[in-house]
Amino acid sequence: MSILVTRSSMPTLEEYVAEIKDIWETHWLTNMGKKHQMLQKNLMKYMNVKYLELLVNGHMALEMTLQAMNLHGEVITTPFTFASTTHSIVRNNLEPVFCDVNSEDYTIDVSKIENLITDRTCAIMPVHVYGNVCDVEEIKRIADKYGLKIIYDAAHTFGEVYKGNCVSSYGDASCLSFHATKVFNTIEGGAVVYHDEELGKAIYNLKNFGIHGPERVEAVGANAKMNEFAAAMGICNLRHVDEEIGKRKKVVEHYRKRLSNIDGIKLCPIQKDVKSNFAYFPVVFDEKKFGVSRNEVFNELSKHNIMARKYFYPLTSTFECFHGKFSSDDTPVARHIANRVLTLPLFADLEIPVVNRICDIIISLNKKIFIGSVICYN
Ligand SMILES: *Cc1c(COP(=O)(O)O)cnc(C)c1O
Repeated sequence: MSILVTRSSMPTLEEYVAEIKDIWETHWLTNMGKKHQMLQKNLMKYMNVKYLELLVNGHMALEMTLQAMNLHGEVITTPFTFASTTHSIVRNNLEPVFCDVNSEDYTIDVSKIENLITDRTCAIMPVHVYGNVCDVEEIKRIADKYGLKIIYDAAHTFGEVYKGNCVSSYGDASCLSFHATKVFNTIEGGAVVYHDEELGKAIYNLKNFGIHGPERVEAVGANAKMNEFAAAMGICNLRHVDEEIGKRKKVVEHYRKRLSNIDGIKLCPIQKDVKSNFAYFPVVFDEKKFGVSRNEVFNELSKHNIMARKYFYPLTSTFECFHGKFSSDDTPVARHIANRVLTLPLFADLEIPVVNRICDIIISLNKKIFIGSVICYN
């Protein structure tokens, strides 16, 4: 049996059936029904935020937030992310300007933002990649100084707390993904946490055709509503998410125990003041020190039916669809990490013996290379 990089969290079938049972009485399947309202309320309570809009997925959260802000010009962002971040910018006829990431936690290198600001810059879209929290204070200082909007791609941050605040409460807006592969899922789904009621109205208009009543259409919106079955899945999963995060923590702690202090392996540092959600376990392999490359580790794991992922490779700035537009020379740290990183299997029910097997395979590949001679010890 294959071990995949992730495995979606699900309630028991009985719990889900109990949650959707009343849909068979109401026949109300979508359009902001009871489940939608309940999930929205429960999430606002869980995250301790005042405003949250549910959407059909995380990508539309990003795309519609940018659109609702009616931005023009350049958006400073990072290429070490999932396609969605960059696509949301480009699909709004905005220009991504790629800032490098820092070599510690691979979030935006805040020391390089100001140099990229021009009179066309309208916003910053940083990514809390792997759930590593960006330098939110410094980003805010820069945005305030230059009058820029901040839209966080917070797809990886569900359940995280920084200095007592929900990580998704930072920025003018934070966009979450509730995709099946994320720490908390509604099968497909997403949300925007925001602070300005007018922005919320604009996002609502975009998600529901601008419709406000049977005879009232206020704006030229699209459709990005979350349906009742997805919301019901969210209501169930939310009951267990803290327990799931606790189980992920155990897996991550075991990985750390086994893979720390190995020459040529770099793990992300544990961030200060952050309550992590243990969303991903990225490992960066330095071939010179470790002896074999990331791709060789990936292939060896595959041979054992262990499916790690090269997250995030390639950089979004080098995608075929952007051919000739951007250069990875502008983001050498991001390029360096993208070429060396592997995210290892991680989900709540991943068993410790399997974690050990994965680590054994990786460690068995470790070869120390000295000048002129190769010493292998397994
Ligand atoms: C998953 C993800 C998204 C998109 O979310 P969907 O719900 O899949 O549309 C955006 N950004 C990042 C960084 C992601 O990992």
